[in-house]
Amino acid sequence: MTEENLFTPLVLKHHTIKNRILMGSMHTGLEEEKNGFKKLAKFYSLRAKGGVAIIVTGGIAPNFAGRASPFAAQLSFPWQVAKHKIVTDAVHKEGGKICMQILHTGRYAYHPLAVSASNTKSPISPFKARALSKFGIKKTIYDFVNSARLAQKAGYDGIEIMGSEGYLLNQFLAPKTNKRTDQYGGSLENRMRLPLEILRKTRNTLGEKFLIIFRVSMLDLVENGMTLDEVITFSKEVEKAGADIINTGIGWHEARVPTIATMVPRKAFTWISKRIKQEINIPIITTNRINNAEDGNLIIKNTEADMISMARPFLADPEIVMKAQQNRMNEINTCIACNQACLDHIFAHKLTSCLVNPKACHETEFEEIKSSGTKKKLAVIGAGPAGLSFAIEAKRLGHEVVLFEKESHIGGQFNIAKEIPGKEEFRETIRYFEEQINVLKIDLRLNTNISLDNLKNSDFDEFIFSTGVTPRVPIINGIHHPMVISYPDLLLGKKTAGKKVAIIGAGGIGFDTAEFLAHNPNSVSSSLDIEKFLAEWGIDSTYQNRGAICEKTIERSEREIYLLQRKETKLGARLGKTTGWIHRQSLKDKGIHMIAGAEYISISDKGLEISINNEVKILDVENVIICAGQNSKKELYLAAKEKLKKPCHIIGGADLAMEIDAKRAINQGVRLAYQI
Ligand code: NAP
Ligand code: SF4
Repeated sequence: MTEENLFTPLVLKHHTIKNRILMGSMHTGLEEEKNGFKKLAKFYSLRAKGGVAIIVTGGIAPNFAGRASPFAAQLSFPWQVAKHKIVTDAVHKEGGKICMQILHTGRYAYHPLAVSASNTKSPISPFKARALSKFGIKKTIYDFVNSARLAQKAGYDGIEIMGSEGYLLNQFLAPKTNKRTDQYGGSLENRMRLPLEILRKTRNTLGEKFLIIFRVSMLDLVENGMTLDEVITFSKEVEKAGADIINTGIGWHEARVPTIATMVPRKAFTWISKRIKQEINIPIITTNRINNAEDGNLIIKNTEADMISMARPFLADPEIVMKAQQNRMNEINTCIACNQACLDHIFAHKLTSCLVNPKACHETEFEEIKSSGTKKKLAVIGAGPAGLSFAIEAKRLGHEVVLFEKESHIGGQFNIAKEIPGKEEFRETIRYFEEQINVLKIDLRLNTNISLDNLKNSDFDEFIFSTGVTPRVPIINGIHHPMVISYPDLLLGKKTAGKKVAIIGAGGIGFDTAEFLAHNPNSVSSSLDIEKFLAEWGIDSTYQNRGAICEKTIERSEREIYLLQRKETKLGARLGKTTGWIHRQSLKDKGIHMIAGAEYISISDKGLEISINNEVKILDVENVIICAGQNSKKELYLAAKEKLKKPCHIIGGADLAMEIDAKRAINQGVRLAYQI
């Protein structure tokens, strides 16, 4: 234990870092947008104003081959410096430091000019990479140093050299992708030659005072990745070659192991930073699934690392550092690690944002909205994510808000989500909403069922209906049989299921329900137990094998569970790009039967009768859980629109049940508050 905490300055040879929090690199999509750097400047400067010590930008390629895609950002020419200067000036004005990440994607490049250590193709790009020639290697070293030199000209305080996550430098380091027979392949000494030459030359060219962070892959999590000894040796060499700080990288992008999604326990990987810290003398940053200051403080006190890196938490709340320092923890809008509006957006070529904070990366857009200036008295009916986000934003903008909720608590569908093993983080958003209601003194009226008459006789200027959804009841013979349970009744504990269960509907909620049922009673969720999580996903914490991977140890479900849909397509095809595969793998590992193309015939004492490819069979189950989507609850809105002579608005699932997902609901609520 040390006396140091998250807010103790970190003193380096040439820099004093004001606290122990670094905003990790995130690609936002603004890097490639027209006028994007002005928007980026706003985005980063708000986080600098919020107190973060160092910001690392999204990855910027040192040359064309290194770009993630043909239009990705690159810094190679003097004429590109000016736009970066907009960003660095804005951050410095707020007292922050900013480092540019130099990222060469190697074989992860999504274009035909991809290069790597050897001629290989990654499973996540359709393009086969060409092995760099000796001249190509020399040119690559020059390009990295040139990019760093231009970054210095642009006013960056330093750079981060991306050496992890399976990108080019990691591809040279690991035998998995480095099959070379020249002095850049074979022995570890040869495999680490390229990253070290880049680092040394950068240091020599840019001088002692330019901050250099090197991101080392501490766990490759792929077969034939590096060994622990190799990671230690390489980290020591990185120190000798002139890095100021080592940052932690966990897992290649192609690894079939979740590393940042919500089912990964908090602080799941700090143990490896702690292990490497014992071997080096320069500070080390730990990362992955750190989303709160309490954990950050413990990491520093327990000398597990010298700094923590948080990336997505800065999308969720630009003021996370300031609020933590002022001990206003409950006011922090916590990142729930859902990936829905950040990473999933990037993979869909959309701008990054945040499910719990739709203003993220859209800061200038909200700044430009001109309010009518008229303060109104607003009635919000329904305190789910849509109603809550509207009420909070409208109150912040100066309106008088009364929030009505028929239940005894707020949160709507989030109360269901938080019951799913692996989705415990959803509790944080409810806690944040509750705290905002207190801080803003919003008039919340729980246990209040609003009727049209109540609204008719009121003095509100406008009405906002966020009345949510009701579960859809499909037309199937026997649908009212006592064995049938609706998903809210099951997940909210009003009813329990037997040992053999069929789930009708395999959308997001069907998958969640399967995960809930597969979880054995009296067993801790692996999302709350680091050792169990590591074992479940085959991560070798003893680091006996290359890449730190081993056989999985899975706790099979005590229940027999069938998850069904009518479509012929793969189950879960519409789940998020970055998390859908985890849900599918998790259910497969637990032995859940997944059935596509089912026609539901009847539900009776015998079980669920279905037909697949015209073959009839009975699933001998004790319960059938219905997860067949939802219908909007918009009756009150429709009646109000007709009878009240005042503006009526409808948001969230009440507006569109097909998309009850919270991302849309919160975004709609916040934006409506600005339009009213
Ligand atoms: P959903 O994704 O629309 O899925 C509804 C399921 O019900 C589908 O599998 C559909 O498949 C089936 N279905 C629809 N009508 C039916 C009928 N009449 N009879 C029998 N089956 C029927 O809806 P959801 O699962 O309720 O999720 C709602 C929203 O929450 C979605 O927008 C989802 O993105 C979001 N969500 C996401 C996650 C996640 O990503 N992990 C988790 C929870 C919720 P067939 O038509 O093929 O039978
Ligand atoms: Fe975190 Fe989800 Fe927001 Fe991404 S979208 S920053 S994962 S809360």
